[in-house]
Amino acid sequence: MSSEKKKKEKEPDITFFHPDLLEVPQDGSLPYLKGYRCTRCGQLDFPKLNPCPGCWGEEFDMIPLSRQGKLYSFADIHIGQPGMNTPYIVGYVDLPENIRIFAQLEGELGSFFCDQAVELTVGPIRMNQDGLPITSYKFKKAAVPEERKS
Ligand SMILES: [Zn+2]
Repeated sequence: MSSEKKKKEKEPDITFFHPDLLEVPQDGSLPYLKGYRCTRCGQLDFPKLNPCPGCWGEEFDMIPLSRQGKLYSFADIHIGQPGMNTPYIVGYVDLPENIRIFAQLEGELGSFFCDQAVELTVGPIRMNQDGLPITSYKFKKAAVPEERKS
């Protein structure tokens, strides 16, 4: 046996974050997040929870989620995890489907406020171990805020 240690082949790292969560249609139509509705009890979740926490069902219909939501809360991050350029912004976005999503926010620091209308966008969220950007969902200020309810 060779005394030389064989270098471990590095697995290719991901460049697209969870295709089961985010759809970016190839035909150029707008990207959307994938919700999963339990076929037995109707509970809608994002991300997919299997089995369903409501009834332990294991069959789901994929439901495209709304592209716009309201910013519930957010924070500026100045000390980030490795592979992430600081500062960046993270927040919780409430969708009309009564789903709260944690995501990065795209925009200027200090330009967000709670209850702001935001919309889904797609872009790099961090670098992978090969130094390539990982694409995922983010939210940015909504270009055209939906009509306010109330
Ligand atoms: Zn269920």
